[in-house]
Amino acid sequence: MTHEIHAKTILIATQNKKKQAEMLEILKDVPGVLFRTTAHFPFLPEVEEDGKTFQENAIKKASTIAKACNTWAMADDSGLEIDALNGRPGIFSSRYAGPNATDAENIEKVLSELRNVPKARRTARFVCCVALAGPEQVFFTVKGCCEGIITEEPRGKRGFGYDPIFFVTDYHVTLAELSPSIKNNISHRAQALGLFKKKLASLVLR
Ligand code: IMP
Repeated sequence: MTHEIHAKTILIATQNKKKQAEMLEILKDVPGVLFRTTAHFPFLPEVEEDGKTFQENAIKKASTIAKACNTWAMADDSGLEIDALNGRPGIFSSRYAGPNATDAENIEKVLSELRNVPKARRTARFVCCVALAGPEQVFFTVKGCCEGIITEEPRGKRGFGYDPIFFVTDYHVTLAELSPSIKNNISHRAQALGLFKKKLASLVLR
């Protein structure tokens, strides 16, 4: 059986270069779709992330950029939920230590809040919600999670964000010590984009 493929362009609506790189790598085997980053669209509107959930923020980012560029757009909203902090930093992960906080400052804040919390209670998960929107509609959202434990100090130089303090039990290392190819197989973003690819196929392959 043959499929007719309608080539589509999807704009990846994120300014975070490390996230973009992970997304492009995970999406590289999708047939019939051209993924483009925001580097190709220099005058994009700022999107205020004022939603109450990862899903609301992902939808807002994807829809705003899809309308502004009159194309399909996808957006990832993601973050770290720590059980001992009642799910914080959650949707505030990128600005936990302040509006322009660096990764190191966010990590320092988390570690100081977890001081004296024993390993058994340092459970956490990365969550990623991805939305696909067109100029007129939201097509779908998908969600992925990756479970881990918050370490007592940063370890490793790879990845970004909270990777140096996120210990992956199956591999006995932090995400920042894992090779990018393994992170891109097991991460919350990998889980969400795996579901994304399946849903996208039913939209573009008819
Ligand atoms: P967003 O751009 O609002 O989705 O912010 C996501 C924030 O969550 C990032 O700035 C990081 O602090 C954190 N985060 C999301 N995904 C990852 C990851 O894969 N590794 C480490 N930190 C992440």
